Amino acid sequence: MSQSPQNITVLGSTGSIGVSTLDVLARHPDKYRAYALTANTSVDLIVPQIQRHSPRFAVMRDERSAQQLEDRLFALGHKETAVLSGEKGLLRVASDEAVSAVMAAIVGAAGLSPTMAAVTAGKKVLLANKESLVMAGHLFMEAVETSGATLLPIDSEHNAIFQSMPARYQSGKSTGLASEGVRRILLTGSGGPFRELPLAQLPLVTPDQACAHPNWDMGRKISVDSATMMNKGLELIEACWLFNTTADRIDIVIHPQSIIHSMVEYTDGSVLAQLGNPDMRTPIAHALAFPDRIDSGVGSLDIIATARLDFEAPDYQRFPCLRLATEAAAVGGTAMAVLNAANEVAVDAFLAGSIRFTDIPLTIEHVLAAKTIVEPDTLALVQAQDASARVLADRFIETLIRA
Ligand code: NAD
Ligand code: MG
Repeated sequence: MSQSPQNITVLGSTGSIGVSTLDVLARHPDKYRAYALTANTSVDLIVPQIQRHSPRFAVMRDERSAQQLEDRLFALGHKETAVLSGEKGLLRVASDEAVSAVMAAIVGAAGLSPTMAAVTAGKKVLLANKESLVMAGHLFMEAVETSGATLLPIDSEHNAIFQSMPARYQSGKSTGLASEGVRRILLTGSGGPFRELPLAQLPLVTPDQACAHPNWDMGRKISVDSATMMNKGLELIEACWLFNTTADRIDIVIHPQSIIHSMVEYTDGSVLAQLGNPDMRTPIAHALAFPDRIDSGVGSLDIIATARLDFEAPDYQRFPCLRLATEAAAVGGTAMAVLNAANEVAVDAFLAGSIRFTDIPLTIEHVLAAKTIVEPDTLALVQAQDASARVLADRFIETLIRA
């Protein structure tokens, strides 16, 4: 008996992960239907997506771009899609009763509320927006537990770790990593575009150089995070929450080829890894279909052409952001939300050409030192800490610009 396709909401459909998600959905119209698409303000990008997928809803960040979108759809004679706007619209499509799964692929802190709405509504949540877990991991995982939501990691490393876990763990029937015989997690990272650049040149790198990742094609914010290796720091925190473990059980390993996407070591000495071409459609397809497997459009891994897999220890002097994230993880509480907020502001300023690449860790260190860290018991408190950290970061950046 054929079943009707599952309704999928794609939060951040116009971004790098959003586009890859729609590519996978389009390969399986019998299984999935794009129910809602959302974008920031990019009407030009979302219009062809709406024409192609005819979602029930499209959500724009503000009234103005929603009005522009409505006008465009009217002119095109497209009547199938209702246009919503703002946080209210996002929360609606993240928790809509008709929706089976939500791809959380908005970038940054803006993704927190809609992702939490999907979790609270007990959806199957495909989590790309690592920032929401970094900011509010404790509250996030509590909400998963309470609502019975299914959380599946999209971040390639976390998806690889998940895939390398025992079946009992994957099906949610495990009491924890120790009882599964897991000794440690090896979290791999490429080291980004500046792994071998002479240190003296780091202050001079441009936004375009920072965004030219050797292996992955991603949005600009996460590309800069990869260049500073803050991305690996955020992923360390993300892994602690997702796999209910502590940072001392996770080793960061530099693997420049990005073919192994992470590994799990067991007490008997076995190390399981997930390998594949660096293409986000693999973890997206895995999480969408889990526990089944579907075609993702990703070609076979040519292991002969790959020939070499290299590994090295991370360089904390070259990548101070990695140290800052590790320290924030050890401090706990709102330190991680503060780290994330200061990083977002600094990365924006770097991308805008206002500060140097090496000013990013300086800004984060300054804000972390200035803020009092507390244990957040509500989302509102996390958001207040996020907002005040942004003010501090902006002020510090002003002093850098004037100097
Ligand atoms: P991107 O910049 O390419 O896309 C971001 C999406 O979010 C766009 O659709 C944009 O319109 C929307 N958006 C941005 N600001 C918004 C706001 N204030 N309100 C509503 N919508 C907003 O980013 P990306 O590379 O696709 O990354 C998305 C998320 O996935 C990030 O959290 C990133 O860390 C994570 N991630 C990405 C990759 C990757 O390969 N790109 C890999 C792992 C994890
Ligand atoms: Mg990753």
